Amino acid sequence: MNPTQSWGGMQGHESRQEPIFWQQDIHAILKRDQRFLAYGLGRSYGDSCLPSEGTALLLSPLNKLRSFDEKTGLISAEAGLSLAELLDFIVPLGWFVPVSPGTKYVTLGGAIANDIHGKNHHKRGTFGCHITEMELLRSNGETILCSPTREKELFAATVGGLGLTGVITWCTLQLIPIQSALVDSETIKTTGLDDFFALEDASAQDWEYSMSWIDCMAQGSRRGRGIFYRGNHAQTGRPAEEYAAQAKWKVSVPIQAPSWVLNKWSIRAFNEVYYQQQQSRVKKGRMPIDSFFYPLDKILHWNRFYGQRGLLQYQFVLSLDRRQELNQIFDIIAKSGMGSFLAVLKKFGDIRSPGMLSFPREGYTLTLDFQNQGQKSQSLFRQLDAIVLSAGGRLYPAKDAMMSPELFQNGYPLWREFSRYIDPKFTSLFWNRVSRG
Ligand SMILES: Cc1cc2nc3c(=O)[nH]c(=O)nc-3n(C[C@H](O)[C@H](O)[C@H](O)COP(=O)(O)OP(=O)(O)OC[C@H]3O[C@@H](n4cnc5c(N)ncnc54)[C@H](O)[C@@H]3O)c2cc1C
Repeated sequence: MNPTQSWGGMQGHESRQEPIFWQQDIHAILKRDQRFLAYGLGRSYGDSCLPSEGTALLLSPLNKLRSFDEKTGLISAEAGLSLAELLDFIVPLGWFVPVSPGTKYVTLGGAIANDIHGKNHHKRGTFGCHITEMELLRSNGETILCSPTREKELFAATVGGLGLTGVITWCTLQLIPIQSALVDSETIKTTGLDDFFALEDASAQDWEYSMSWIDCMAQGSRRGRGIFYRGNHAQTGRPAEEYAAQAKWKVSVPIQAPSWVLNKWSIRAFNEVYYQQQQSRVKKGRMPIDSFFYPLDKILHWNRFYGQRGLLQYQFVLSLDRRQELNQIFDIIAKSGMGSFLAVLKKFGDIRSPGMLSFPREGYTLTLDFQNQGQKSQSLFRQLDAIVLSAGGRLYPAKDAMMSPELFQNGYPLWREFSRYIDPKFTSLFWNRVSRG
């Protein structure tokens, strides 16, 4: 048995794995075993999806649709259904998920347990804002129906609850209508962070989606330059035909790349080429949904590109008045020479997240990918942690592998209250690490 793995390449410590095909199966396993954690598609980067012991409940086979109202867009499905499977069903019918992450290979259960966000946080908040009800199965065999109005404390603990409150067996989600399977997009070359701040503010009203790629190797007067993306679902079209016509090709990275492939020169060169590939300041286009939302999904196993030691992500949010600290962080990264290909900056809006441990809150959020270089990565992260901590920010558990208990507990002041709702038989490597002390 290969242990469960996270997207960054960390491994679970479970002694048993159980694929779940039918809801009834879980009851027998819960009676038989002692410690558990649900596992979706392992798209969390660090250790939040990894069991520290006991049984990993592999939920992705539990993926049946329960009901769909084509008039209202209310859909109910088992929690192992992936967004990829869901989109194949709903897009041709003129519906879309209200919140989508940068990959469609996540399950509904995983999306709730991390209360994920997308490029439209300023318009729609988090995934949990659109869950109208869900069923939670506890290790004592009890099933509890929760919603924003029923068992609302347990609902608030389970949304963003990192799988620790039990197994979500199914949920009901409110979809959004679309008239087309295409997205009208604009990409704008930016010269620095001030440009980004101005564009985010100017786009908030009229654009559903926005975010920016940043060249985090650029220093001095070029610091913070990047490419700003914004988009809206096209207003007219034929979703079924357009979706069917979209290229479904994929390539795969077959083996782990040697670790020397990524170094400061190759990363700098990539960032330079990526930035310069756009000649004009503004480019307008109409893109297939997949290309706009999930460009990385075209390359299966792209995480192997980071080699045997895997990759680490670092994502934080700082409040809007902390632009100075954001600049400081870009300086530290550029000087460290450990830059990232995938530096993504986004402004979160002020829609309140429904979960006690939900990550998003109003401010700027920066996501960075790094090759795992052991001690070197740790010392860079410690420097960044010190800034995030003193600025009152927080890190995203779905991306994290190293956060200290101090940073977690300061960033998530409701964590003790949340602990009251943890199922006594559920635990994870992440939780064991951050709840100490
Ligand atoms: C390329 C890429 C891009 C990404 N972009 C974004 C982004 O833009 N925004 C964002 O927010 N996140 C993003 N993520 C992170 C990803 O959306 C989350 O980690 C998501 O939770 C992964 O879902 P999963 O089904 O793979 O769950 P897993 O990673 O397997 O598990 C995640 C958590 O969910 C729990 N869980 C899973 N199923 C259940 C269930 N049925 N019941 C109870 N608990 C359950 C697990 O115990 C674990 O705590 C990205 C990840 C990748 C790889």
